[in-house]
Amino acid sequence: MIAVLKQGTDEQKMNSLIDWLRARGLDVHISRGEFHTVLGLIGDTAHLDTELLESLEIVESVKRVSDPFKSANRKFHPDDTVVSVGDVKIGGGHFAVMAGPCSVESPEQIAEVASRVKAAGASVLRGGAFKPRTSPYDFQGLKAEGIELLLHAKRETGLPIVTEIMNAAHLPLFEDVDIIQVGARNMQNFELLRELGRQKKPVLLKRGLANTIKELLMSAEYIMAGGNEQIILCERGVRTFETYTRNTLDLSAVTVLHELTHLPVIVDPSHATGVSRYVKPMAMAAAAAGADGLMIEVHPNPSAALCDGAQSLTPDDFEALMRAVAAVREAVKNV
Ligand code: PEP
Ligand code: MN
Repeated sequence: MIAVLKQGTDEQKMNSLIDWLRARGLDVHISRGEFHTVLGLIGDTAHLDTELLESLEIVESVKRVSDPFKSANRKFHPDDTVVSVGDVKIGGGHFAVMAGPCSVESPEQIAEVASRVKAAGASVLRGGAFKPRTSPYDFQGLKAEGIELLLHAKRETGLPIVTEIMNAAHLPLFEDVDIIQVGARNMQNFELLRELGRQKKPVLLKRGLANTIKELLMSAEYIMAGGNEQIILCERGVRTFETYTRNTLDLSAVTVLHELTHLPVIVDPSHATGVSRYVKPMAMAAAAAGADGLMIEVHPNPSAALCDGAQSLTPDDFEALMRAVAAVREAVKNV
């Protein structure tokens, strides 16, 4: 249920209303917009007298909300959430590109990619240190050493870094990581999500291979329920019957998510298509659809990559992608 308060409501009256609601066992999520403050009432509101609530002097309107996601719901929080990482902002009109290799492989590889993606205009460096591989015999990532190499690249370039966590026990290694990624395979690892809810660090939450938009939002809700509201959602393709692409990019998810939630939404066309020549067109389409950013895999020599070479762009191809995306953003800015 949400209660929209009247414009210019007195803070003290609002606080007594909140105390009154809390005394009835409800959690209250406060969202201050430009004109109105909206109270999101979380918990069992079945016995709450909505007419009584609506009759209060400071309340403008009361609505029952049936969506199971409350904190992520745009109805509670009409303004876009902007996630800030140093000087980089994502969401609410701020567009950010995260780029780098699938896996951190060596000091030379990550250093070269970092400087090239930065020069091309990326604002966050990505790179996997803990890799969720389908086969236990494939390269599993450099783990702690991979994070060290990313941190070195961060110091050299000034780019904030995003890297995937697979186990909450590894959190101490992520202390200086700027954005913690939850990969598609862990989207419903609820214990991990709860632990990330207790952190004060932005989380990049990728949609699972076979998960609905509602399930993605419920996973975001797990993190938000712990108090961490700095979440970036990522559409990275879902599994369908199609075989010409690795997954099927569900671009409609960008529009649907923007309607349902205030959280920023980025698109990963690399994992969505699995084919490097499809990455640029899908990145352009994502920008046209209003995505708040992109995640792109870039490798200095994709044919020698230890992971996901087929979908990785060369630094030159990445530069071309950045120019194409900028042109699309310019073309659609007043639409
Ligand atoms: C990744 O970003 O490296 C990754 C493994 O992606 P996903 O979880 O979307 O498959
Ligand atoms: Mn990858």
